[in-house]
Amino acid sequence: MPALTELSPDEVFRLLGEEEDTLLGEQTEVDRVFEGLSCPSCNGRMVPTVDTENPFKEGQNTPNQLGRCLSCGAVYDPMTGRLVTRPDFL
Ligand SMILES: [Zn+2]
Repeated sequence: MPALTELSPDEVFRLLGEEEDTLLGEQTEVDRVFEGLSCPSCNGRMVPTVDTENPFKEGQNTPNQLGRCLSCGAVYDPMTGRLVTRPDFL
């Protein structure tokens, strides 16, 4: 059985440099959604977290992300405003 050899970062970037980047555009859109997003329950800072129940949509290259509040723990779908997980204080 052959031993595994890791590619150096330079080798990885050289190989990927010829491929179309299908992730950066989608992730940039997600990042824009979360910029300045505040919690509807407590106005705390929201950070993206992967939607583990529905991780991918067909044709989507980046995982679905929900917003988790760093203050109260509430989780919202930033696209629809749907509350996924109640805040800690309820
Ligand atoms: Zn909150």
